[in-house]
Amino acid sequence: MDSMYIHIPFCNRICTYCDFNKVLIKNQPVDDYIEALIQELSAYGDMTLKTIYVGGGTPTALNEAQLNRLLSYVTEHFKVTDEFTFEANPDELTTSKLDILKNYGVNRVSLGVQTFNNDLLKVLGRTHKKDDIFNSINHLEKIGLTNYSIDLMYNLPGETFDDIDMSLKYISELKPKHVSWYSLIIEPHTVFYNKIKAGKMSIAGSIEEGEKYDKVIHGLSALGYPQYEISNFATKVHESHHNKTYWLNEPYIGAGAGSHGYTGDVRYYNIKPVNHYINSMKDTGSVVKEELKLALKDKYEEEMFLGLRLNKGVSEQRFFDKYNTSIDSIYGKVLKELHAKKLIKRESGFISLTEQGRMIGNDVFAEFLL
Ligand code: SF4
Repeated sequence: MDSMYIHIPFCNRICTYCDFNKVLIKNQPVDDYIEALIQELSAYGDMTLKTIYVGGGTPTALNEAQLNRLLSYVTEHFKVTDEFTFEANPDELTTSKLDILKNYGVNRVSLGVQTFNNDLLKVLGRTHKKDDIFNSINHLEKIGLTNYSIDLMYNLPGETFDDIDMSLKYISELKPKHVSWYSLIIEPHTVFYNKIKAGKMSIAGSIEEGEKYDKVIHGLSALGYPQYEISNFATKVHESHHNKTYWLNEPYIGAGAGSHGYTGDVRYYNIKPVNHYINSMKDTGSVVKEELKLALKDKYEEEMFLGLRLNKGVSEQRFFDKYNTSIDSIYGKVLKELHAKKLIKRESGFISLTEQGRMIGNDVFAEFLL
């Protein structure tokens, strides 16, 4: 196992669109959570890993003592040979927290910017403002933690094409190493979902969403950020190595409440509520988790869904090496049909989505269900 995801489920405010596993940090047993997490991690002993990704929630919602406690354990027991990423909110990335991250070997920061428009940030329920973004990037540059990603969203309620132009302009000035730019998904049980259902809010339809996506892809490409995954943009050297573990359908460890992991045969899902997670560690010394054993057909499907998210696509040789059978023996008919519709292409041993296929990615992925 080369990669590990660690989940910190606390936030200083709950955003209006968010359905991640998170809780408001106020009055939460955060210290107990960190101890439970360390107990879960201790089951892995000492390991050398290529990547660790600490996500949330918002890991930077932890105070300095909690960051020190967690990161000192992690770095004492896990040697990271490649990429050590920490998610951060712009208004929480103080110089003292940044010092802690840097001292423990964090070498990549994923900054939750979302948009540079203060009005839209307010609609999203974010705690930061545009100035916080620039200040945090200043701190990152000063401390020499220059490998950072800016994470954005498009198709926000009330967003215009000018907002996308503004983000592109700031990206051209700030020059982050990596950009993630996701379309807003309206998830059930969120404030946005309820507002839309009640007719109090709306977002653009699929045609405008497609036009915005097109602007994002071509705007970033013109700035020197080639698309390498449906929503991710960077030159080869700065692609997210940790996230590629997921898209290449490789095993990884998941630790923390609500995190999930993959052994290569089993996908597991840790119990979500913070208190249940802590209690399960206290009472039994291990996490309550759901386990899903994958049949061969599930593995084929996941290999295609995940791999086709990458612009490079699915390697035919890699598929053969993993499953001892050719892609054509499983998906020959589907591939021929999608190719005839110009939704996929086959080049140099890789099967990938065409630009047209990427626009309707989910429909194409559905064709690979067996
Ligand atoms: S900060 Fe992130 S995890 Fe927390 S509520 Fe907002 S979007 Fe969700």
